[in-house]
Formats: sequence, C-alpha cells, structure tokens
Amino acid sequence: MAASSTAPARVRFAPSPTGFLHLGGLRTALFDWLYARHTGGQFILRIEDTDQKRFNPDSLNDLMRSLRWLGLAWDEGPDIGGPHAPYVQSERRALYRQYADWLVEQGKAYHCYTSEAELEELRAKGLPYDRRHRALTAEQRAAFAEEGRASVIRFAAPLTGTTTVHDAIRGNITVENASIADPVLLKSDGLPTYHLAVVVDDRLMEITHVLRGEEWIPSAPLHQLLFEAFAWPAPIFVHLPVILDPSGKGKMSKRKTVVDGREFSPFVRDYITGGYLPDAMFNFLTNMGWSFDAEQEIFTREEAIARFDVTDISPKATALPFTKLDWMNGLYIRQMEPARLQEELAPYVAADLGLDVANLRTDRRLAELTPLIQERIKVLTEATALIDWAFVPASQILYPDPTQLIGKKLTAAESLHVLETGAAVIASIEPFAAPALEAAFRSQAETMQIKVGSFLAPFRVAITGRTVSPPLFESMHVLGREETLARLANATQTLRAYATAAV
Ligand code: GLU
Repeated sequence: MAASSTAPARVRFAPSPTGFLHLGGLRTALFDWLYARHTGGQFILRIEDTDQKRFNPDSLNDLMRSLRWLGLAWDEGPDIGGPHAPYVQSERRALYRQYADWLVEQGKAYHCYTSEAELEELRAKGLPYDRRHRALTAEQRAAFAEEGRASVIRFAAPLTGTTTVHDAIRGNITVENASIADPVLLKSDGLPTYHLAVVVDDRLMEITHVLRGEEWIPSAPLHQLLFEAFAWPAPIFVHLPVILDPSGKGKMSKRKTVVDGREFSPFVRDYITGGYLPDAMFNFLTNMGWSFDAEQEIFTREEAIARFDVTDISPKATALPFTKLDWMNGLYIRQMEPARLQEELAPYVAADLGLDVANLRTDRRLAELTPLIQERIKVLTEATALIDWAFVPASQILYPDPTQLIGKKLTAAESLHVLETGAAVIASIEPFAAPALEAAFRSQAETMQIKVGSFLAPFRVAITGRTVSPPLFESMHVLGREETLARLANATQTLRAYATAAV
C-alpha cells in the first residue's frame, strides 16, 4: 500500500518482558510499525528475555495485548513465527553460544574466569573490569577450569583508537575504544548478554533499521564493534528521544502522575481500561517526536504511513501533554459514527452496571443515548455516570434531596402541580417523541406563566435522579411512556410527602 521510493525496511520491536508496557515503549513500537508500513517492509516482534532475573511472566501478555489494541500487527513474532523463528531469545541460546565461540576462535573474544568476589573488589573501588584474563595462556585457562571456576566470554575490544556510530537523526557518536572495558557477551549460565544477542539477532533477522530509546546510545559503539568483529554491515541506528515527565524535568516516571487534577499512568494497560480509543492514542503518540507537518496534528493512520520517515524524527526529548490526549480522545469520540461508538461504549457500561455486553451492543436505549452524550465525554469511562439512570428500574431512582424537585422560584405546591400537569401531557401525547413533547411542555409552561427552565427542572430530576442529564425529552423517549410516568409518580409522591411534612 505504501507508496515510497524507499527500499522495504525490516524493523523490530525488541522489548524485554520485565514489566508492563509503558507509553514510551509503545511509541517505539509505533514508529517501528509506521516505518515498516511506509516502506512496505516488515515489522518484527522479538522478545529479549535473556535476563532471567528480571523476567516477569505477566508482561508478555500485557505487551501483545497493548500492541494489538493500538493496531500494530506484527509480521513475524513469537506467536506467529516467521522465517527467522524462534523470536524469543531464550529459545535461541544455542545459536548465541556458536557465535561467541567463533569470536573466541578468531581471537576477538576470550574466556574470563574472574570470580564474583574479585569483580566486587573492582566495583568497590569504582573500577571497570581490568581485562586481567584477556591474554591467558592455555595452561592458565586449564588451571582455572581445574579449580572449578565458571567462565564468561568477554569481547576483546580494541585498546586504542575510536569508534563512530552514525545515528540517522543525531549524526555521528564517537567514543574512545579504551572506554569499552571488554564487556561480557556470554554469561556463565550460557545465556548471552543483551549486547551479543541483539547484534546476532539483528543480523540473522536481517534488520535494516534499529529504532530504540536513547538510553541505548552508550551501547551503540559496542554493537558497532561487534558488527565489525563479525564482518557484518551494521543496521541504521535511530535512537528515539526520551519521553519526559509532564513537568518536563525528568524521564517519565513509572508511577502515576497528576496533571490538572487528573491522574495519568505511564502504562498502556491503564489507557485500555481507561476508555481511550486506539485511533486517538495512535494519533497522539505519533505526534511525540514526529510531526505530520507544521499545522496538522490530526491525521489518519494511512496519512501517517504515507508520510512517515525516520529521518524526520526529532531527537529532542518531549514531555507527554496528557491533557491533549484527553482532548484528542474527545475529538475522536465526536467524530465516530454513533453505531460504532455504541459498540465501544458497551463493554464499559456493561462492566459498570453489571449488564450483558452483547445485549448492550444492540440495546435500543444505549443506541438512543449514545448520540446524546457523544459531545459530553472525553473518555469512554465517563459515559456510565451520564446514562446509568436509564438502565435501572424506577424504584432505584431516589430523591434524597426532594427540594431538587422544586423548580426555581416555584413553591413545592407549584412544582407538584407542574409534575402532575406534565404527567397528564405524557400520558396522552401522540406521538410520544421528543419534538412533540418539547412543543407540548413549552406551551404548557407558557399557559401556566412559568419560565421554561423552572418548569422543566423537576422533570429532569424526577426521571434521572440528577440535576444534570442528557437532553430531557430525548431522555423521556429513551425510557418510554410507561417508565417515564412511573418515575414521575414516584417523584410526585416524594415531593408531596416533603411538602406535607414541611407544613
Ligand atoms: N531489549 C531492549 C529493551 O527492552 C531493546 C533494546 C533494543 O531495541 O536494542 O529496551
């Protein structure tokens, strides 16, 4: 679909399943996906789980659910396989070992027997690994092995010179090779470190572009050196800007933050349950570090795909404007076909009110209420509080404050009269529809010389139990004639009891 002169890119999202996916991770996946789609290439999901200590079994489901929710389907991945399966690093361990051994044979890596206690001594002095086993003789190695010492494989980084990594949006990043202190490639448990696994997999999976958070910049020169050691061309690196806390001061925290009195979470799962639309989140996150153009901030997925290019990503860190997300979500809600919005609302309303979601999807009341609240909600979770009155029996509409049933500048007796007059209109009006009801009520108010607002207020409270509700006559229609009359009867009784007691 993507019309582009760029060659098809192979782009991977390579999360470590250590916790719930946060918005920064989702943005990385989104940019990966956009670039793959823009070039007509592939988006690959790879699970980097070689750090078994930090593995969190819940995070894989959370991750896949989050990506699916946003509509980021992967072309190759752990669940669907692909030409380079498996896509979970812990299932590829034999492979990494081969590559580590090959580097050892080539003299580009070596076995290191330094014990944990010895390393701790160095750390305590603030020193990096001192390459003490870089030049062991075969006899020395044998002696360590004899002692029963475990070994790791370390990279023999060049001792002099510099290494330059080219980042597509940041330019050249150069470091002194001497600062790369022979990092571990293969751990004593036989599992690779991130550095070895990422390089081997990016090569074997034919990754052309590596998009990842800027926290990986310090690792990039080592990766570059590893690509060179294997005599492989390196992919194009794009280090994405970090997402800042709304204050703009630090990296976005792993906890909830309060902005303008509202709580915002860094975790994608909270937006799924929080009533956000995937299309709105997609649009919002695409704007975080990339812009469609100088003016337009609302665009479709297709428009973004057609225009997205990695070189247009800004390296500047941005704070997430959470309130804008709410605004954008409200905008997407207002743009939706009511029938689709009903489908989206159904699960939330069903969960809140203990109703059957399948029934709600086709429920007449929800179908009528949806366009009435469409302008009034920013997130789907706000709907229930506006419409719950329509889904309970009349007996559950309570009037703890009967004075709310009294119209402005009216007495209790006058309001009772208003309610009774209205009930008579409702009982006989044909058709029982909002325009006819409105005309009849307005003319009744005029006849009784009561301001329309004062005349209508008691009815709103009577049928919804609230002083604020969706439009009154449409609300009556949602309930139907019988149910409306039942509620008016209850309200009238409550107000009469109040008026009697007050005398
Ligand atoms: N596994 C790394 C992470 O979770 C990915 C780094 C990369 O994309 O190279 O952040």
